[in-house]
Formats: sequence, structure tokens, C-alpha cells
Amino acid sequence: MIEIKNLTKFYYSSESVALALDDISLTFAVGDFVAITGESGSGKSTLLKVMNGTETYEEGEMCFDGVKTSAFGDEDWDRLRREEIAVVYQDYQILDNYSVLENVESVLLICEERLGKLTPKERRAKAMSYLEIVGLTKQAKQKASHISSGQKQRLAIARALAKNSQIIIADEPTGNLDVENGRMVMQLLAEIAKTRLVIVVTHNYEQAEDFVTRLIRLYRGQVSDDIRLRESAQLPATGAEAENHETPEKRMRKRDAAGVFLKMNLRRQPIRNGFFFLLCLCLSLAFLVFLGIIAQNLDDAQAMEYNEKAYFNGDDTRILIRNVDGSELTADDFAAISQVKYVER
Ligand code: ADP
Ligand code: MG
Repeated sequence: MIEIKNLTKFYYSSESVALALDDISLTFAVGDFVAITGESGSGKSTLLKVMNGTETYEEGEMCFDGVKTSAFGDEDWDRLRREEIAVVYQDYQILDNYSVLENVESVLLICEERLGKLTPKERRAKAMSYLEIVGLTKQAKQKASHISSGQKQRLAIARALAKNSQIIIADEPTGNLDVENGRMVMQLLAEIAKTRLVIVVTHNYEQAEDFVTRLIRLYRGQVSDDIRLRESAQLPATGAEAENHETPEKRMRKRDAAGVFLKMNLRRQPIRNGFFFLLCLCLSLAFLVFLGIIAQNLDDAQAMEYNEKAYFNGDDTRILIRNVDGSELTADDFAAISQVKYVER
């Protein structure tokens, strides 16, 4: 499934060149639970990054299902990361503001084009089935930020499962966990590896040795040991693959997914959304008042009748006169004004 041949990877910086992977040749197949160990700086993370397409390589070749990645463009790598490989990180990378259940539901939504359309009820049921595998059904309604570290990592694994990829890679998934939780996570990954390929990087090999089917040790970028510890599961593909091929008419439109995300976001951030709503309300009111003022001033003549400024006279030699009631001046009025000394019309 993954074939790596004579792969070499350098990191270049302005001052130095580091040889991170040195002529690595490895093959991986479904059904294996592989542990990659080695001291710090031996190239473990780099190997995972190269496999995931987040780092390039200089020499050698890597093939997925027989297809050479040297010919891959950005789109091919995007598709591989989106569909074929799920990654579990040491720091979980879950959605803190969402509930445990919503964390898994969101993956099903994101991948719906590939996995097929589900009604909200079906999506919930499927997400719950993944939570059941990782033992988190009781926490389904809890906010993800409120569960324990071990539970967070199990949630990250449930999200990886929901992606339904054949390959799951994990970089130090037990790095932040105590011994008991670390062991639980390893056991869970071993179970999952029966129908997928699971590759886990760990510097704490004792935690994994009871479960892994194969041990690879790296030393200064080279493979120093590659030991088979148990038979790989080599199970036939499960229904998971069939799920990948839902009919197009069953696919939910992206617009629908955006709507569901909007609802989840609104529900999950009530305070922030409340402030946003108030801000919108204030802006709307201010706008209405502004419109009112403009409307009031549309009739200039009326406005001017009461507007002192309109009658402001900047010239000392002139005086402006009007009737108190606003009526027109008559010929008698003009005659009377003309009688006043020094005044002319
Ligand atoms: P490990 O995960 O086994 O601790 P890494 O794969 O992170 O090892 O690192 C392998 C080697 O590559 C180390 O010598 C490290 O210093 C170097 N390296 C890793 N990442 C980078 C990077 N981004 N830039 C330069 N050198 C790096
Ligand atoms: Mg590392």
C-alpha cells in the first residue's frame, strides 16, 4: 500500500544542511500496527511528514497503491491528505468549542462528498458509533474543552476514524498522557489497525510493545531495526470501503453542510453571538435614526422655516425680514417697511 524506496530528505537553512532521512526503504500494508521509535532527532516525525505530503523529499521514491508520488501535483497531495490519510497529533487538535459528538459529526460533514449524504439523525447515529468504539458515549454532550487529556486523544482518534481513511498516522499520540491512558490509546489503535494501516511514532516503546505488529527503529535518519513482532491482521476490506461509493444523488450539497456548521457555531458560542446580535441591533437603530434625519430634511423649505442658521445674515448693511406666521409679505407690508428711515427694499 505504501512503498518507500531509497528515500533521502534534507532540511536546508541559510547556515546548515541537516540530513533527516538517509536512504530509507520501507513498505507498509493494511492490517499492520507499526511503531516507529528512535531517539529524539532520529527522523521519526520527518518520516511521517514525508508520508503525509507535508514535507518533500530529495531523492528516492514513494508510492501509494503503486502510484509514484514524484509525479504528484498539489491537488494529488491535497486529495491524499483529505481522503487517504488521517493524522492524530500529540496535542489532539480537536474543536474545543464543539461538543464531543459535534467534533465527530463535523468530520462526517466535511467528508460528506466522499462518504455520502446523511440525514442529521443518521449523522448523529454514525458519530455515536465512533464514540462507542473509543469509549466516549457518556461524554457525547460535553464540551470538548472540558474532557480529560486521555479522553481528548480518544476523541481525536474517533475523528480520525470518522474520516474513514485506510491509513492512520499518529505522532507521539501518548506524549501528553499518563501511563494508563497511554496504554488505553495504544490498545485502541491496535484494534483499529485490524482493518487499516496504523503507524504510530513513539519514543515510549514500552507502551506500545504489547500491541504493535511491527517495530521500526530509526537511528540518525536510517532504519536500524525492522522487526515483525506479531502477524498482521490482513483482514479483508470491511463495509467501510462500500461507504465510500454512495450514489451522487445521496450526496448532500455543500450549502447544507454550511448551514449545519452555522447552527453548531451559533449554539456553541452563545455569549459571542449575543454580543454580535446586540452590535447588529445598535448599528441598525443608528442607521434608522440617520435615515429619519435625512427624511426630515428632505423638505428644505420647511426645514429652513425653523432653522435659525438659514436666516443668518453675515452682512451688516442688510436685514432679512419675515412674517412670524410664515405668510407672504403683502404690498402694504413693503410699503410700511419702506417708511422706515434708511431702509430700502
Ligand atoms: P524526531 O521526530 O525523531 O525527533 P525529526 O524528524 O523531528 O526527529 O528531526 C530529524 C532531524 O531533522 C533532526 O536533526 C532535526 O534537527 C532536523 N529537523 C527537523 N525538522 C527540521 C526543520 N523544520 N528544519 C531544519 N531541520 C529540521
Ligand atoms: Mg518528532
